[in-house]
Amino acid sequence: MFRCRALDVNAVRREKSTIDQLLIRASRLAGEGAEAAWRALSAFLLPPTCCLCGARGLGHGFDLCRVCHDLLPPAAAGDEDPAGFDLVLAPYRYAYPVRHFVQGLKFRGERHYARVLGELLARARRELDLPLPGVLVPVPLHPLRYRVRGFNQSQELARFAARALGLRVDPGCLERVIATREQSALPPRARRRNVRGAFRLVRLPQSMRVALVDDVITTGSTASEAARVLRRAGVERIELWAAARAPAPGAARAAPRPDGVPGTV
Ligand SMILES: [Zn+2]
Repeated sequence: MFRCRALDVNAVRREKSTIDQLLIRASRLAGEGAEAAWRALSAFLLPPTCCLCGARGLGHGFDLCRVCHDLLPPAAAGDEDPAGFDLVLAPYRYAYPVRHFVQGLKFRGERHYARVLGELLARARRELDLPLPGVLVPVPLHPLRYRVRGFNQSQELARFAARALGLRVDPGCLERVIATREQSALPPRARRRNVRGAFRLVRLPQSMRVALVDDVITTGSTASEAARVLRRAGVERIELWAAARAPAPGAARAAPRPDGVPGTV
């Protein structure tokens, strides 16, 4: 196990003056204008293209055609949600082609899959017709793993989901201080022990209503541990968003366990 040096960073939340609020609102409006222009330009230069078959995509930033979209495996009903969340959103089963997207992103660095996964998450969340969280917090990687991989797959997912929903990503409020063993190798009870104390609050998130974003939920013990730290810091509402849900090792189910369940590290 590796431990990071503790950072002495504590963010202070300040009440904003009326002028500050007006300036923030003006900059948001300018940002929305720039975003709309960027979307129009990128739709023209990089039209959405199905990342499975190359046909025309279904819409802006959505790189799946109708036929391939219909291949997506919906999440099985009756899966137990991980503890500590006000809402758990995991719209798909960890099976082809979602597994192909996640593995391509995570293990082969094919970051274009983050766009399609982020867009799918955003669409699924929009369909719930509930107030959105204030900020998305990707489950952080340990710095050593980050250095090896070069990016955090959950942050990539969060970035595209946030862009589609007009939200912000706040990747700096949590850090991972213990490089835990690969979760996929462990039974559920050992997973919970394995992640205990794995996260530390660096500062308060930019909103007290957050959605933690992970790539795949298996037992959810990693995400639950991150949620515990946020809740202890006073975060009022915590959602968990993940592209897919994989059956926990040993879970009784008719379908065979998909190969290469990556866990949530
Ligand atoms: Zn297609």
